[in-house]
Amino acid sequence: MVEQKGAAAELCEVTSHFEEVRSRIDNICRKMHIDEGITAKLKNCKRELVVNFPVKMDNGKVRIFTGYRVEHNTDRGPGKGGIRYHPDVNLDETKALAAWMTLKCAVVNLPFGGAKGAVACNPKTLSQGELERLTRRYASEISITIGPESDIPAPDVGTNPQIMAWIMDTYSMNRGYSVLGVVTGKPLEIGGSKGRFDATGRGCVICARLAARHLGLSLDKSTVAVQGFGNVGGTTAGILSGYGSRIIAVSDSSGGVYNEKGLDIKNLLRHKKETGSVLDFKGGENITNAELLGLECDILVPAALEGTICAPNAPSIKAKMIVEGANGPITAEADRILGENRIFIVPDILANAGGVVVSYFEWVQGTQCYFWREDGVRSRLQEVMDNAFREVLEVSQHEKVTMRDAAYMAAIGRIARAIQIRGIFP
Ligand code: NAD
Repeated sequence: MVEQKGAAAELCEVTSHFEEVRSRIDNICRKMHIDEGITAKLKNCKRELVVNFPVKMDNGKVRIFTGYRVEHNTDRGPGKGGIRYHPDVNLDETKALAAWMTLKCAVVNLPFGGAKGAVACNPKTLSQGELERLTRRYASEISITIGPESDIPAPDVGTNPQIMAWIMDTYSMNRGYSVLGVVTGKPLEIGGSKGRFDATGRGCVICARLAARHLGLSLDKSTVAVQGFGNVGGTTAGILSGYGSRIIAVSDSSGGVYNEKGLDIKNLLRHKKETGSVLDFKGGENITNAELLGLECDILVPAALEGTICAPNAPSIKAKMIVEGANGPITAEADRILGENRIFIVPDILANAGGVVVSYFEWVQGTQCYFWREDGVRSRLQEVMDNAFREVLEVSQHEKVTMRDAAYMAAIGRIARAIQIRGIFP
């Protein structure tokens, strides 16, 4: 569960995440000579739903919450994308996250488009009963757009498998039968997939390993700093430390901990569970989020929220490579600075795609009512991520562009071809 955005995020003011995505799509489409109409389609969201809905609180009062569900593009298949519960979410952020999902699904070549949902709330201050009533009402409000063939939600910041279970149950109650494929990231007992919970972190590690090999580094000799110690950051740190990497620092919204010799990630996860934060961990010393970004290390994994690395703090970064666990953690201006400093970046739409890849596997398993073993899930994930990383690296070398531009080129090429082949209705 995410807390309020911390100091690192406050330093970075981004007026519109969606405008940043639009402008990048525009640049890449121009570079690729994509048709103007197709470019315009990609720069706009297909459907934007805003819902204001009442929830009965435990004190007997009724509170109105605002939620969103955006489908950016569905030319390659149903919309796919998580649901975020966070006090600061808004329509602009949800649109940006939906657009990144379209690009992400295309870069790893899944038959999905992109979507995203959100509710402006702080789940940490809600009781289980309030959270359940909020989720069921939100699911009802957006049931006009979600469905296994149209738009399939999943967990994101502030949501979890239990919340997906309530959405699946609410949708199923209204249909009169169990609809496994309406959400992914469900608990195993009701059609979840083995290997889904750590899939995003595992995908980040696959990318880190391939990028390290490309740069002549090896994971077992690498030092790592992780910003954001939630699902993505925590699992990435855990798997990397299992491969022998030294995790020298991690942080959450309250601050960070540092140990030059390496943090014991298992104990740190326990400490975070017990105390709610990574601060005051016995095996390290407290540092700030800004200090974490400026550490000498081989690999930096931003895995918190979008826009945490921006022009003011980007020059302090000394890592050799950045693997973007979070969506959109680096602003356009920071991206330029890091590029000038020759830092190798594995972009979000590739680096954190492991989650949606295993979500796709979950959807396939649920639709066929045939469930795979965990080793089968992992080996298929490895294959998809390997292929996508190789393709993006090849485009980057062939076109002499950054990995980010190469990932956008690979994705936009696929989506543009789909739009071209389908044609414009009517
Ligand atoms: P989470 O809520 O489990 O974890 C987020 C973590 O970031 C928390 O530890 C929080 O304290 C920390 N944080 C928040 N603001 C911070 C700041 N300013 N500085 C440092 N830490 C801060 O969420 P998550 O599911 O791990 O998602 C993290 C990011 O990864 C998001 O951008 C999300 O969209 C992206 N992502 C998640 C998945 C997934 O499967 N969960 C898949 C793809 C991408």
